[in-house]
Amino acid sequence: MSEDCIFCSIVAGEIPSRTVYEDDDVLAFLDANPLAPGHTLVIPKAHHEHVQDMPSDLAGDVFAVLNRLVEPVESAVDADGSTVAFNNGEVAGQEVPHTHGHIVPRFEDDGSRPIHSIFGDRPNLADDELDDIAASIADGTDD
Ligand code: 5GP
Ligand code: ZN
Repeated sequence: MSEDCIFCSIVAGEIPSRTVYEDDDVLAFLDANPLAPGHTLVIPKAHHEHVQDMPSDLAGDVFAVLNRLVEPVESAVDADGSTVAFNNGEVAGQEVPHTHGHIVPRFEDDGSRPIHSIFGDRPNLADDELDDIAASIADGTDD
């Protein structure tokens, strides 16, 4: 548990939440300031700031709960789909520094846009730059 972390306080039961799923390692609850009815957050109970800070088994547990909850979340509010996403890092808009996946129900004609719409101009990358980036990422996956 991290002091001054809102989500750690929710895990500890010090701040109430509308819990929709809980197991030993993962908690899911309604967002207090929802972007749509049914907006749900899925968090590891242990404090990890970023997605990549979680051990891979815990990351798998969090994703499994996201996977399990999408259908009941959409059904509960009769949604037509959902945006499932992580703001990862302050620069990406992460406000609570305890990693959390969002399930935001989507509706026909809800006026909201796809994840692509949060980005501005697209970079114009040459083939050799793309090759270098791909190689660098591939190298980084080696343990
Ligand atoms: P972020 O911008 O970090 O990806 O999203 C943080 C989310 O947490 C926001 O959607 C915000 O409404 C939600 N949130 C912040 N504080 C609380 C809280 O105390 N309880 C609940 N249930 N949600 C919260
Ligand atoms: Zn925390």
